[in-house]
Amino acid sequence: MIAERRQAPKLALILPAYNEEEMLVHTLSKLEQIKADLIQENKIATGSFILIVDDGSKDQTFSIMEEQEQLNEDILTVKLSRNYGHQPALIAGLQEAIKLADITITLDADLQDSPEIIGQMVDQYLAGKEIVHAVRSSRETDSWFKKNSALAFYRLAGWLGVELVPNHADFRLMSKVAVEALLAMPEKNLFLRAMVPLLGYPSGEVYYERAKREAGTSKYPLKKMLNFAIDGITSFSVKPIKLLFNLGLVVSSIAGIEIAYTIIEKLIGNPTAGWSSLMISIWLLGGLNLIAIGVIGTYIGKVFTEVKARPLFHIERETGVLRATGQRQE
Ligand code: UDP
Ligand code: MG
Repeated sequence: MIAERRQAPKLALILPAYNEEEMLVHTLSKLEQIKADLIQENKIATGSFILIVDDGSKDQTFSIMEEQEQLNEDILTVKLSRNYGHQPALIAGLQEAIKLADITITLDADLQDSPEIIGQMVDQYLAGKEIVHAVRSSRETDSWFKKNSALAFYRLAGWLGVELVPNHADFRLMSKVAVEALLAMPEKNLFLRAMVPLLGYPSGEVYYERAKREAGTSKYPLKKMLNFAIDGITSFSVKPIKLLFNLGLVVSSIAGIEIAYTIIEKLIGNPTAGWSSLMISIWLLGGLNLIAIGVIGTYIGKVFTEVKARPLFHIERETGVLRATGQRQE
């Protein structure tokens, strides 16, 4: 049976923005153009809009956003009360946009996520997919280090049983059904690219070449990237704890062999001075202990943040969505 082709949906393009004053106007004009073309082609409905989430920017980002919201009625803004990070900003955008839209596409405000493929993503939705992942076909624009560390990360995640779409970040289309299911997940330790596959809805992929950032700077320096990777894995796999347990067993049995050996040596009456073996054992076991405590601590830290159940973000200002949903008259 051929699934009935869906109707042109009302699309929300969601842009998280943190200190993007240099890029924002350029990005918006490009997206407006693409959106207009898609409406023209009858792929998306009129009333489709762009929602920008200001994630506590310290530069002129929000005043540019306000200006744009005044100029274009299809640009809506949400201002978070401080910098919460890319992932919470995305959730804030999804939560607000889905009040008005049938489908959402999240993409970076710096145009690195090529907006030219939005049409192909919508095509897959029209053909019945609830989630469409945009996947980088090559990593030409990345440094050698970023390319290889990403590869190592996907291998490690796969081995630890964390289901990810390789080379896909947060450039994705989600239908209302998928967004609502995602928003129903109560967790605070966010790693959206591993949470979305857990939803299990029919999903597709579209390939693209990721562009270089044209202006402004990356907000993901090495340290932040590494933290994000560790966070991602420990939020979705308890295998590191199990590995530690097994490592503990192996190390203890080596100690057992050493004890037996020492006893035999004593019995034969030929004990060695043993300074180096003693030092090696101390340092090795000390190190393993620290790693073990560190891994367990990471998980306890997560339990701690989940138990506190603090809100993911606070919205400081928002007019467009409230006006559009009739909760505010002006
Ligand atoms: N971003 C955000 N909050 C942050 C950091 C980044 O909303 O705390 C936004 C940023 O404005 C951009 C997107 O997330 O739209 C991706 O960030 P960036 O381009 O700096 O990351 P990269 O592409 O270098 O991985
Ligand atoms: Mg970027």
